[in-house]
Amino acid sequence: MKFEIPSGAAYILQSLHDAGYESWLVGGCVRDLLRGVEPHDWDICTSARPEEVERCFAGHRIIETGLKHGTVAVLEDGTPYEITTYRTEGPYYDGRRPDYVAFVSSLESDLARRDFTMNAIALGLDGSLRDPFGGMEDIKAGLIRCVGEPAHRFQEDGLRIMRALRFAAVLGCEIEERTSQAIHENRIMLGHVAAERINVELCKLLVGENAGDILRQYPDVLCQFWPQLEPLVTLEQHSPWHCWGGWEHTIHAVEAAPADEILRLTMLLHDIGKPSCKSTDEKGVDHFYGHPSAGAKLAGQMLRALKFDNKTRERVGVLVEHHDVQIPCQDRSIRKWMGRLGAETFFQLLEVKHADGMGQDCELVKDRLIELEEMKARAEELVAQRQCFSLKDLAVNGKDVIAAGVVPGPEVGKVLNELLERVMNGDAANQRQELLKLLDCERSGG
Ligand code: ATP
Ligand code: MG
Repeated sequence: MKFEIPSGAAYILQSLHDAGYESWLVGGCVRDLLRGVEPHDWDICTSARPEEVERCFAGHRIIETGLKHGTVAVLEDGTPYEITTYRTEGPYYDGRRPDYVAFVSSLESDLARRDFTMNAIALGLDGSLRDPFGGMEDIKAGLIRCVGEPAHRFQEDGLRIMRALRFAAVLGCEIEERTSQAIHENRIMLGHVAAERINVELCKLLVGENAGDILRQYPDVLCQFWPQLEPLVTLEQHSPWHCWGGWEHTIHAVEAAPADEILRLTMLLHDIGKPSCKSTDEKGVDHFYGHPSAGAKLAGQMLRALKFDNKTRERVGVLVEHHDVQIPCQDRSIRKWMGRLGAETFFQLLEVKHADGMGQDCELVKDRLIELEEMKARAEELVAQRQCFSLKDLAVNGKDVIAAGVVPGPEVGKVLNELLERVMNGDAANQRQELLKLLDCERSGG
């Protein structure tokens, strides 16, 4: 089989070749080309040393940030190509990073250091493949398999555990049995991996099409960096609303949410407060009073531990906190909640409530799901009509209120809020003249 190599990549391979060096496409871009997917970045490996690569591309823009690992990035037509000298990695002493890299002379030894068979295939300019570990077969079979002895590879670098889960979720692959077993057995190695790197892989995993299956098979791995998940994984819920335990419900909710980082994170954590809020009544029915607030707090701590940014933490916190609020499907309630949360968060909350409902007993929540659809349509209409939702949307502002005779200070905010209330209740239109008139009457009428 021959594979089409785009002209930019072909140019890089050809230049190295013309200078007398071996050069191959390698890693994710080959995997993607073989799967018929457009690669999003380009890795090339070569027998040339970094200084030889730089000489070869004199006149091009070169980025040297990866130099100590043997990588030179060359910019061609705006696209960066990462060119790495054939190398092995020195021994890993901390399960984090090799202590040093050593250049080697053969492509095969370079491929041997790579994580999974499907990432250890090289594609040459003439379309020929080097695939010493059976990566092509594994791509066809949809299998993530370690190059070499799985336990050893995860002990060298714990991040590979998260990479395996991420590839499986995103590519819709299974993890081969021995690789899978080694993941469970060596999950403790994640303790050596920087939180930021786990964060990146977790986010990619969660938006993957197969995220649910991975969460189902590897809760122990997630508990390794988020032990707070453990009580949720084992939580039973005896309630007419729930046909599943806490973890299975969570998985269904994650799967039902759009493939968006914030929404998937929210669904993963939305019931994290349940275990600590559980009580059982005399009929044997479980209740979880107060779990959204407790959950928002706990979710915040978990996201902080994994170094999520403030914006993500705040947004997920608000969504977890409100995932259970009852919002009647009426314009005034929609306006009120949209004003309180902001339109973007409000629409996200509707998605969260929908996904949560999809994880419950479908028959019982059917009406609720229909109502959510109606609410979304209604809310979209209100937005389209530019109806106002918060003080900043109000047709008058603080200056107007002061001009109407209100003493600057807290009273100004109070008056504005009263006006907003009237507009939201439909008692006044959000029009400047009308509101100014109203202000005038109020002031003159005392
Ligand atoms: P994607 O770019 O889609 O995330 P990728 O496989 O290209 O996937 P990169 O992080 O870009 O992943 O790495 C490029 C290649 O480098 C991989 O395909 C793999 O061969 C190798 N590699 C990356 N990280 C590791 C690792 N932790 N251990 C061993 N090999 C790795
Ligand atoms: Mg890549």
